[in-house]
Parts: sequence; C-alpha cells; structure tokens
Amino acid sequence: MTNTAAIRLLIVGAPGAGKGTQATGLAEAYGIPAISTGDIFRANIKNGTELGKRVQEITAQGQLVPDSLTNDLIADRLTEDDVAPGFLLDGYPRTVGQVEFLTELLARDDAKLDAVVKLETDTDAVVQRLLKRAEEQGRVDDTEDVIRHRQEVYQAETARVIDAYAEQGVVVEVDGMGTVDEVAQRILDGLKARGLEPRK
Ligand code: AMP
Repeated sequence: MTNTAAIRLLIVGAPGAGKGTQATGLAEAYGIPAISTGDIFRANIKNGTELGKRVQEITAQGQLVPDSLTNDLIADRLTEDDVAPGFLLDGYPRTVGQVEFLTELLARDDAKLDAVVKLETDTDAVVQRLLKRAEEQGRVDDTEDVIRHRQEVYQAETARVIDAYAEQGVVVEVDGMGTVDEVAQRILDGLKARGLEPRK
C-alpha cells in the first residue's frame, strides 16, 4: 500500500442500482482489484471456513457483521500484492467506525481514498425494477415492503458514510439511471475530472 500513484476508490449505490456491474468495469479500467466484503463473506460461508461460520447467521438476518471483524478482514486484504496499483472497495466501509478505521489504516501510508463514487438513483424506479425482477424469478418473499425496507437501510447507512467522505472532499456524485454504458461513461468522466485517469 505504499505506492503513491495507487488509485484508491470506493463505489456506493443502492441495491439494484447496478453497482456490482459498474464495480467490475471500473476496476478493469483502472487495473485494480474490486474488493467486496459481501463477496468475501459469501465465499467464506460457501467454503465453510471459520470466518464463514461466524458470519453466516448475521448475514442471513441481514445484520451487519461487527466492525472489528470486518475491519480486520479488510486490513488483511489490503496487505496482498494485487493492491499495489490501488483498489476499488464495494460494500466497505459501511459504518462510521469502518470509515474511521480505514482512514487511519490508509493514513499510515500517507494515503486516503481518492474518490468515492456515489451512484444516484431514483428509489421508486429502482423499487419497480426490483419488484419486476422478483416476480420474474418467482421470489415471493421480495415484496414491495421488503424491497423498500432494503432501500431505506441502504439510505440510512450510506448517508453517514457519505457525510464522512464529503468532509474529505472526495465524493463524486454520478447519475446512476440509464444504460450500463451510459453510467460507466459518467463515472469515468467524473473521475477524470478529478485527475484520475484510467490505465486501460
Ligand atoms: P452485500 O453483498 O454488500 O450486501 O453484503 C452482504 C452481507 O454481508 C451484508 O448484509 C452484511 O451482513 C455483510 N457485510 C458486507 N459488507 C459489510 C460491512 N462493510 N460491514 C458489515 N457487514 C457487512
């Protein structure tokens, strides 16, 4: 993590906002790994690791894994060789405690996040899209109330994280409504405007 030219990004977006797809494209454009804590937890649960066993219940209930565990996981992940050119975080940090931890962790290398990409979406439009998808896939538990609740949890969580990063002056707001390509282009434009040029 000592590479000063490294590009360190975070992407934030509501469930159903296409964040995963954008994260993949963005990581590729900048030649950096996309690191999703949700994916890491899911992989550990699938493989039945100690960590997986500890977080299984928590994630199944839609609760947040304790900061101490999540922070340790990220601290460890950010020591791996592939993060030398930087990284794109997805799903972390999610609490103010995690923001503080990450800020201190990066400060040890005189670094900070270069940009926090915030995908702005129209909640009603996203809810309708997710409702349609749930119907098509026969996911009867995903009622409008459940879907709306997830959007509200996201809004509450991210509001605090975004406020913390707004203080650091690194938030890049991007209109997340439109085709994958349109949104991807807007993200790149927003990052380029901050002097963060893609590598590929
Ligand atoms: P996600 O795919 O990002 O929605 O994450 C799936 C689940 O993993 C969440 O519902 C949480 O239980 C857990 N999780 C992922 N990231 C974090 C985080 N940064 N802090 C706490 N729990 C997390």
